[in-house]
Amino acid sequence: MEAKTIVSDVLIIGGGPAGSIAAASLVQKGYSVSVVEKVPFPRFVIGESLLPRCNELLEMNGMLEMVDNHGFTVKRGAAFDMHGVLESYDFSENIGQKFGTSYQVKREEFDDLLLKQAVGFGATLFEETEITAFDPETTTAAAVDKEGNLLTFKAKFALDASGYGRVFPRLLGLDEPSELKVRSAVFTRITGDIRPTDETEGYIYIYVHGNNDAWIWCIPFSDGITSVGVVCTEEYFSSFGLENEAFWDEIINSTVGAKERFANAVKIVPVGKIDGYSANVKSMVGKNYCMAGNATEFLDPVFSSGVTLALESGNQAAILIDKQLKGEAVDWESEYVAYMMTGINVFREFVGAWYDGRLQSIFCVEEKPEKIKRAIASILGGYVWDNNNIFVKNPKSAMAAVISQITPKGL
Ligand SMILES: Cc1cc2nc3c(=O)[nH]c(=O)nc-3n(C[C@H](O)[C@H](O)[C@H](O)COP(=O)(O)OP(=O)(O)OC[C@H]3O[C@@H](n4cnc5c(N)ncnc54)[C@H](O)[C@@H]3O)c2cc1C
Repeated sequence: MEAKTIVSDVLIIGGGPAGSIAAASLVQKGYSVSVVEKVPFPRFVIGESLLPRCNELLEMNGMLEMVDNHGFTVKRGAAFDMHGVLESYDFSENIGQKFGTSYQVKREEFDDLLLKQAVGFGATLFEETEITAFDPETTTAAAVDKEGNLLTFKAKFALDASGYGRVFPRLLGLDEPSELKVRSAVFTRITGDIRPTDETEGYIYIYVHGNNDAWIWCIPFSDGITSVGVVCTEEYFSSFGLENEAFWDEIINSTVGAKERFANAVKIVPVGKIDGYSANVKSMVGKNYCMAGNATEFLDPVFSSGVTLALESGNQAAILIDKQLKGEAVDWESEYVAYMMTGINVFREFVGAWYDGRLQSIFCVEEKPEKIKRAIASILGGYVWDNNNIFVKNPKSAMAAVISQITPKGL
């Protein structure tokens, strides 16, 4: 076993979207960057539906062209099937943002593309190497590679982008439980999806099950394969007393819209389950370190916001790390934490309104004012930092105001 010390300007833990965009940004600004990734790529991770804001962030960092050229399904919007009542949002009908489309991606392909680009720009990748300890005083991390060699990483700044690994929250005691209910996702990939042939082709579809007890995601890939997952509370899952696959079958076959669409479905991977994924942190920043992406707060998958927040935070962290390493003052609380919380809190309000039914009551109104529909399309497109949007300025009161002004059919 060999002991080695690697010195760089910035250490990035994790080669997912948050880590790759930060690495690409920083190396293009002239810094030496070590990216330490625990598992060999390409690797699967959940979260396959992107939002238009992702395209903008990738473009800002010179990473969009390769994604554009890969052949992913173009995602033009999101559709919500509430027991046969369909509400769809075309992302291009937003309130003036640049991108009106995004992609449905197999993450093993998408994340691999981004990481390769970061390396192509000059980042040094330490693959199959796991960070096991971190000293925030000296910005030094200990790691072990696949041969069992012990490595020490020294840097001027460290970014934890370890996603579900949650390296800094665990090692520095910063983990905090989410205030959201514990939910589970039961998911697989299928062939035989009977896809819409109208303007919603390529959209993510969300099907509501029962009395808002569960919802189903349907993410169509360009090779004919579709990702289909069921999300519900752990209690709801347990109440069926079924194994994952039988539960998935049961929910699909008892949900209007999904039952017809997946009548010919053939599962091509075992049905998996992930539980209790919502998480929070006591703090996102320290003296010479910060966290990005899922290593910070993760809310809920219903609006496909995870990769957008990962790219946004990785990009914002890189901008501020550059400032700090140039000797400029950075107010991490306002420029990073408060900035990220603006967007997170918009999604938090939407997630809350989805589960308590407020959002579905807005969706069910047939004739909505045009400006409300556009404002929602922007949020669903990941544009959650635009103060021209009523839902961004004050998410709670905007949601209440919209609900008081429009009465859903049948109420
Ligand atoms: C059920 C469900 C459905 C979802 N659906 C969507 C969706 O449709 N769209 C969407 O945008 N988001 C979705 N998400 C969220 C999405 O999965 C995450 O937000 C996204 O993957 C976060 O990216 P990241 O870069 O922060 O972390 P990750 O993509 O998790 O990458 C982190 C990397 O860090 C590495 N790592 C971990 N520990 C260590 C260590 N100790 N040392 C070195 N490396 C380490 C990991 O191997 C991994 O490659 C969903 C989440 C769930 C739970």
